Amino acid sequence: MNKSFSLLEKLSTLTSLKVYVTLHNNKSTYLSFQKKRREVFFSLHKFFETAPLDVLQSLVDYAESAKQTSFTKVKHFIYAKQQEIDLSHTVKEKDLHIEGKYFNLRQAYEKINQNYFDNALDLKITWFFPKYRSFRNFTFGSYDRNLKLIKINYHLDRHDTPAFYLDNLLYHEMLHAVCLPFVDEKGRLRIHTKEFKEKERVFPMYKQAKEWEKQFLKKFWRENGRS
Ligand SMILES: [Zn+2]
Repeated sequence: MNKSFSLLEKLSTLTSLKVYVTLHNNKSTYLSFQKKRREVFFSLHKFFETAPLDVLQSLVDYAESAKQTSFTKVKHFIYAKQQEIDLSHTVKEKDLHIEGKYFNLRQAYEKINQNYFDNALDLKITWFFPKYRSFRNFTFGSYDRNLKLIKINYHLDRHDTPAFYLDNLLYHEMLHAVCLPFVDEKGRLRIHTKEFKEKERVFPMYKQAKEWEKQFLKKFWRENGRS
């Protein structure tokens, strides 16, 4: 099929339903549709314009039958596209909290970038300030691929946090920039892949860091009143 065919034309050839399409740039919902009798109304992210035919076929199959199996290819496609969106320009330097009371995140980041990544990474880093009112989970750190931003929980900025622990945590989050997640055959999202876990263990004090993390959590919940 020729590239000059519009998304609407392509979809229309793949189903006997009458197709309507609106395209958008929405960042949270990439696809929705409504089916009414023999008509289907798609609301799709613009990146569907580049979707291969088998993905579009899965999309109309899904709209026709609502079978989850038809949806897997669409899910893979959305996931890959999502990863490509670069929003790092929206991160403002002034909104980053780099200097903690005890640790300067950028210094630690630069050291690890040099020692383990040949200075190849170009990421931003900040402390984040979670509110633990509901006390369900403790997030140590995270990596936002679209923002190319590492966030480290400021509750770790303590006098008794060993530097090796923080280094290990940074190394973990930085690995996420290198080891790309993927959706497996069963449609499950794989983040901490085999490759990831192997690389993670390269860090010299990996085991000690994991152990410290366990002890820290016990202490943290004791101090912050989770029974
Ligand atoms: Zn992780």
